[in-house]
Amino acid sequence: CGIIGITNKKCNIVDKLIVGLQRLEYRGYDSVGIAVINNDSINYKKGAGDLQSVMKRVNLSDLIGYTGIAHTRWATHGGVNDKNAHPHLDCTGNIAVVHNGVIRNFASLKFELESKGHKIISETDTELFAHLLEEEVNKNNNFIEALANALSKIDGTYSFGILYKKESEKIYFAKMRSPLIIGFNENVKAIASDLPALLDMTKTVLLLEDGEFGYISPTGFEIYKLLPGGGFRKLSVEEIAL
Ligand code: GLU
Repeated sequence: CGIIGITNKKCNIVDKLIVGLQRLEYRGYDSVGIAVINNDSINYKKGAGDLQSVMKRVNLSDLIGYTGIAHTRWATHGGVNDKNAHPHLDCTGNIAVVHNGVIRNFASLKFELESKGHKIISETDTELFAHLLEEEVNKNNNFIEALANALSKIDGTYSFGILYKKESEKIYFAKMRSPLIIGFNENVKAIASDLPALLDMTKTVLLLEDGEFGYISPTGFEIYKLLPGGGFRKLSVEEIAL
């Protein structure tokens, strides 16, 4: 299981995402999927099986986008089938999520979201986080606040890669007890579960720590930290450089 996300201003990144998925293959997987932002809409393809067999069935390389996320799944919640493959979207289709890890308060969260009218399509814990983000975005926060609030409501392990349609060049991320790194050069910014997935693009990487979240964009990135007593703060450039 692993995630990768790439954003830039100049070229279609789908082939790079597929190469990244191949490099993550040693982590093992039962399903794969990719989501991209193109013309202000989120397009995605996914399916159960290894990369080669899913590529034959759903032609992942037909997708086009300058900003995208990809996932290899190792099922923990819900069987191995197309519906449970990542990415997972919220009800509006504005938010797409890939996730590595386990959300422990799955049952209570599902009950709460369904009683608020959310239609949950898959059996995964991950999909709940897309709906939780939708709830928080609707409360008129900016996306960083929405993400921090949503993270404070889940108990578990995660590395997340998140697309938000209204901020089409950004990839939001968060890390707690699952690996996640940022890789960057002047023109391309990326996130991934590990280094091999990014080696073609850059050797300049930053290892994220638990409780860190934020976004990458073609021109830079910001990192925030969840505080133990609640709330969050932005890391300064000096802190990131350390
Ligand atoms: N818990 C999620 C699922 O079952 C993510 C599993 C993973 O880390 O790949 O879909």
